[in-house]
Amino acid sequence: MKDNWRDSNFKKISISEDWFEVYEITTNLFVFYEPRHYEQTIANLVIGQQKAALIDTGCGIGNLRKAVEEVTDKPVVVINTHTHPDHLGSNRQFDEIAMYDHPLSHRVAARGVSHQIMQTEILAESLVIKPWPRGFDPSSFALPSFEVSHWLRDGDRLSLGGRDLEAIHTPGEAADHICLLDRADRILFCGDILLHGPVWTHLEGGSLKDLITSYRRLMGYFDDFDHLMPSHNEPWLDKDLLPETLAGAEKVVSGQAESREIIDPWNRRLRQYSFGRFEILTN
Ligand SMILES: [Zn+2]
Repeated sequence: MKDNWRDSNFKKISISEDWFEVYEITTNLFVFYEPRHYEQTIANLVIGQQKAALIDTGCGIGNLRKAVEEVTDKPVVVINTHTHPDHLGSNRQFDEIAMYDHPLSHRVAARGVSHQIMQTEILAESLVIKPWPRGFDPSSFALPSFEVSHWLRDGDRLSLGGRDLEAIHTPGEAADHICLLDRADRILFCGDILLHGPVWTHLEGGSLKDLITSYRRLMGYFDDFDHLMPSHNEPWLDKDLLPETLAGAEKVVSGQAESREIIDPWNRRLRQYSFGRFEILTN
């Protein structure tokens, strides 16, 4: 999508895994970006004094653990913003995993995601610019079940030493979606609900109404952060995107927004409402 941010001020870190591009956003914050996948996922790494948190684990195609270990030697806890497969791809590589305590996340952790679903959702021809990275075998690719070490409740804080991440339940794009607030660094990790690009409400468990409730709730924390760190497309966004996206979503619900019909790369017929730097998709 829009990738001119990569030429901007962020320092590019060289690593041996060529599937990812790694950028230093601040001294304690790095992004692992997948430029050759349609989803352009971003795994965010926040490094505390004792521990590092890896927020989401991308599509699972490159060796994310190896890439992360080239950036930090601190023990890593994975925190998933929700259970769509492009956010859990490399969970199996990590020993400590935290997720929001919701029936959906329990189900996904216990069952994993089948090869067939990963093939359609993640590996389809139209989604990937090849070659595959060394050591990746698409024919056996699936997401095995994984152990969750911490089931997070709304308001729980995970301490990294010197900074902690507070879970805020924000359904709408997915029923088990959370944002993570880092008050020390004044950053809101916002997963898929605030980003440059499309916000999805059309998958099972998605709800535009819930999404609006979540945006309104986040407005209650508006004085606690300056930047947004999403899980796709472009990192380090200005917090003004929150009131802007809330206003857009309210226009969609009240019938004041214009839309057009699109077919997405998965062949779904959707309504797309465009608001400049972001869009809202419904079915
Ligand atoms: Zn996503």
